[in-house]
Amino acid sequence: MNELPIEQQFAVVLYGHTLKYESECILKLFIPATRFQFFYDDISPLNKCQRTAFLQLRQGKEYTWFYCAVSLYGKRLRCAEKLEKCNPETDKAKCEYQFSKMLFSLLEKLTGITVPWGLLTGIRPVRKVLPLIEEGKTKEEIFNILHNTYKIAEEKMELVYKTACVQKPLLEQTPKNSVGLYVSIPFCPTRCSYCSFVSHSVQQAKKLMPDYIRLLCKELEIWAKIVKDLKLSIDTVYFGGGTPTSLEAYDLQKLLETIQNNFDLSHVREYCVEAGRPDTITAEKLAVLREYGVERISINPQTMNDEVLKNIGRCHTSADIIDSYNLARKYDFSNINMDLIAGLPGDTPEQFHSTLEKVIALSPDSITVHTLTLKRAANLYADGMSQINNPVREMVRDSVNMLPKYDYLPYYMYRQKNTIDNQENVGYARAGKESFYNMLIMDETQTILGAGCAASTKLVEPNGRITRVHNYKFPYEYIAQFDQLMKKKEQVYEVYSHII
Ligand code: SF4
Repeated sequence: MNELPIEQQFAVVLYGHTLKYESECILKLFIPATRFQFFYDDISPLNKCQRTAFLQLRQGKEYTWFYCAVSLYGKRLRCAEKLEKCNPETDKAKCEYQFSKMLFSLLEKLTGITVPWGLLTGIRPVRKVLPLIEEGKTKEEIFNILHNTYKIAEEKMELVYKTACVQKPLLEQTPKNSVGLYVSIPFCPTRCSYCSFVSHSVQQAKKLMPDYIRLLCKELEIWAKIVKDLKLSIDTVYFGGGTPTSLEAYDLQKLLETIQNNFDLSHVREYCVEAGRPDTITAEKLAVLREYGVERISINPQTMNDEVLKNIGRCHTSADIIDSYNLARKYDFSNINMDLIAGLPGDTPEQFHSTLEKVIALSPDSITVHTLTLKRAANLYADGMSQINNPVREMVRDSVNMLPKYDYLPYYMYRQKNTIDNQENVGYARAGKESFYNMLIMDETQTILGAGCAASTKLVEPNGRITRVHNYKFPYEYIAQFDQLMKKKEQVYEVYSHII
């Protein structure tokens, strides 16, 4: 018999169906820091007390029945309901939705937990609201729909509605045939404990750097030819990663020069480089960025609390953040963003509030508030403790209330899997300082061309169809298989052949 350590692993029995994804998405909203083990139809390896959830779909002649029994923390609740006109084969989406809704209600009753985003598990909540605004629905009607369909909490409905209202006129300005260019620099000085990106420490990657930069320049030249051939125009350029400023100034210059010499940048509305960590920012690099027309940078403290900075493995202090910010201001960037993270290990609502105050006092043009997300690849994931009793809800609420008072309005938002307390990430900006790239990548209405390892290209057709072309994840693969990788670019011509 398979002995389950039930305090760590939750056994879920799916009987008569395979709605594992839906079951797991809903269960995770109520049961944090857990691993689920799924069993299909055969319940013999488990005794009754080992079953956290028994989820059965039974199809009768006219109706589908859903039977559900959940045992949690010593409590047990059961329900049986008829799913309205729902055949799991032919009405898959409807069936999945009703199944999820019932499981959600049951877990809500059993645990007493309120899930801020309710049943909405998608990563782009604004996209649920924009079409309703476009249809001419009133705010009240939209809130009714969101509440009835997804059971979203009032405060989140307010937030997503406000974000959609700020974003809508800006999205309408997107020029025709325009594309974004994303340049990936997957290197960082050291790895933060919560990080799950494919980022490599600069020290480890030193050997690879010359080849990586050389080939990245080559890929940019290839993209430039495609852009010219297809008569596209570059709307935004975004250097992300990793930490692009972990490159030496001369490597940054090489990349920026390649872009300047090969692309027509006359229509660019936004040129952004993530300067990320203050320990990578120097006067020389800032001067190079400005020389090549970079207008927006992001300096990301994550927290202004020195203890918390230590906890996450950062090798700088909050004083260094202020110095970097003041230095960057001297270089006359028109848009400086600062990123924060709510829910970092060791942080408290009071300290987070003080971080907000300190960042607001610097007066950046925009502030992005992320919520801690723990993926398996992150070092912090292993202990699982960062998710338990994390006061993140209070911190997020504080930022939502405080930032608009200083003219920072929410303009883009996304959610991720495994975010603590199922919260969200929100970009706030002062009027006119919103990032087009951030909005468009979430809205998925503009093609993004990705260069460098771990970058992906997203080809968006006018009918909304999206084709994705991924580059290799790791620098050594990107370098070793560069020529094969570049062959994939033929797909771009193919897709555009039926757009133009
Ligand atoms: S700076 Fe960002 S990408 Fe780099 S290690 Fe930290 S979290 Fe990861």
